Amino acid sequence: MINCKKNKFSVVTSKKILNKNNSYDAILVGAGIMSGTLALLITEILPEIKILIIEKLNKPGSESTGAFNNAGTGHAANCELNYTPLDENGNLQIDKALSINRSFENSMSLWASLYATGKIDIKKFLKFIPHISFVTGTEDISFLKKRFKAMSEYQEFADMEFSSSFNQIKCWAPLITNNRNPLDKVAATRIKRGTDINFEALTKEYLNYISNNKNVEICYNTELIDLKKIDRKQWKLKVRSLDREVSLITSYVFLGAGGKTINFLQKSKIPEAKIYGGFPVSGKWLICEEKSLTEKHNAKVYGKADIGSPPMSVPHLDTRWIEGKKFLLYGPFAGFTTKFLKKGSYFDLFSSIKKNNLFSMLDVGIKNNDLINYLFSQSLKSHNSRVENLRNMMPSAEPSNWYLENAGQRVQIIKKTKDGGSLQFGTEIVNSGDGSLSALLGASPGASTAVSIMIEVLKKSCLFNSDKFDLEKKLSYLLYESESKNESDNNFLEIIKKRNNSILGFHP
Ligand SMILES: Cc1cc2nc3c(=O)[nH]c(=O)nc-3n(C[C@H](O)[C@H](O)[C@H](O)COP(=O)(O)OP(=O)(O)OC[C@H]3O[C@@H](n4cnc5c(N)ncnc54)[C@H](O)[C@@H]3O)c2cc1C
Repeated sequence: MINCKKNKFSVVTSKKILNKNNSYDAILVGAGIMSGTLALLITEILPEIKILIIEKLNKPGSESTGAFNNAGTGHAANCELNYTPLDENGNLQIDKALSINRSFENSMSLWASLYATGKIDIKKFLKFIPHISFVTGTEDISFLKKRFKAMSEYQEFADMEFSSSFNQIKCWAPLITNNRNPLDKVAATRIKRGTDINFEALTKEYLNYISNNKNVEICYNTELIDLKKIDRKQWKLKVRSLDREVSLITSYVFLGAGGKTINFLQKSKIPEAKIYGGFPVSGKWLICEEKSLTEKHNAKVYGKADIGSPPMSVPHLDTRWIEGKKFLLYGPFAGFTTKFLKKGSYFDLFSSIKKNNLFSMLDVGIKNNDLINYLFSQSLKSHNSRVENLRNMMPSAEPSNWYLENAGQRVQIIKKTKDGGSLQFGTEIVNSGDGSLSALLGASPGASTAVSIMIEVLKKSCLFNSDKFDLEKKLSYLLYESESKNESDNNFLEIIKKRNNSILGFHP
């Protein structure tokens, strides 16, 4: 038996005993933003479903979702230059940026619906803050200009501003220009409607709200050990809590265990799992709490990644609001460890190497030797050399104002290909053919697009089999799509943005 709390994090409202062979309609593994979002969607559209969320740690959102473990950027592709690469003919690719922007608007729509009905409090996790891209030098300035021209033609980015004036950029983000030579060639774009999101606080908001539903149970200090399909319709999960082990039965499993998902996906033995492996990348931030500096910076400023560095190490100087306090974060500096979670084990990587993926993992290791060297060299950097790197963006930075903190752990996807393996930097949902299990692999663009990703997970799950038309209708109502569906594409987006701005408090 396991002590299962209907938990409001610090306040335990009731205690329930989880019995051997307890049975659920759905068990969600991990209490990060992904499981939190899926649980919220299920309770909103299928409130009669009996859900159990199990979390290894003693509170939600403490791994990658933790406030200091990620950058808190509401990724809408406003400023992240790696979302708009150039193809081999020098043409700008903006499809990814458009799709991320739409996905993030879905997140905004859901939050607006929940806030308007008093279910969550957006002030606990969302701040509007301009998103800026900043570059130096002729080549990067011409890239930024090209990007601005292409993107600002679309409704999604119509409010993007471009400037190559030192004084204008000084006005947008003075820490970027302080101590910089005014004759330097610089350029920036800005979108005022950017966001800083505390995804840990958001997860808590979701879980707080859904724990009012009697069909939802959340168990902390409870760890998935193993899982097995026992018949055509059911899974048996072995879980451990406070040294006790019990088996639970469920018709649907969501593996939202962050970096550890790959290990459980392999244990599930679904055929779809065979082509995957994982490659861990750790990160570190420089953090500043010095008021004279935090007060001067009100933006997220993204630069260009160093040549040869992986896309997730694009440097950015961010304003962060965490529990009412303002911080500056710079990074991430990448690093390498064999752990799949920040609080994971050094054996994580080795235990994920199987007969099926050995060749693809070795192949990726050999092909990405430069990346591995880059990660090692980044881990060995001294404090002063990290601040030296920060000076590319903030020339006046002083080592004494900044300290180093570990960020969350990312596990990039390794996928088997015809001629070996490929390393991927996106997110991927893996579903069992019968819709009884889904798993989320990968890292980027991550938490910002959790709503769109989890809608896809839900639609492919066996939970969505009942009255599809009715469920689609409920989803589209939650996202405010039904009210504007007869409009043209541009009008549709404008109506949604206007509605979200007015509820969430953004005044253009
Ligand atoms: C350095 C960094 C910067 C990032 N920046 C951004 C950003 O700016 N914007 C953005 O949108 N995204 C960002 N991301 C990505 C984002 O943080 C992740 O996509 C998101 O938090 C993943 O959420 P999750 O719920 O899948 O995983 P997690 O938050 O890692 O949650 C997984 C949970 O599962 C639990 N768990 C693990 N094993 C078990 C088990 N056996 N049994 C029970 N529970 C278990 C863990 O304890 C954890 O609580 C960043 C990530 C990193 C690492």
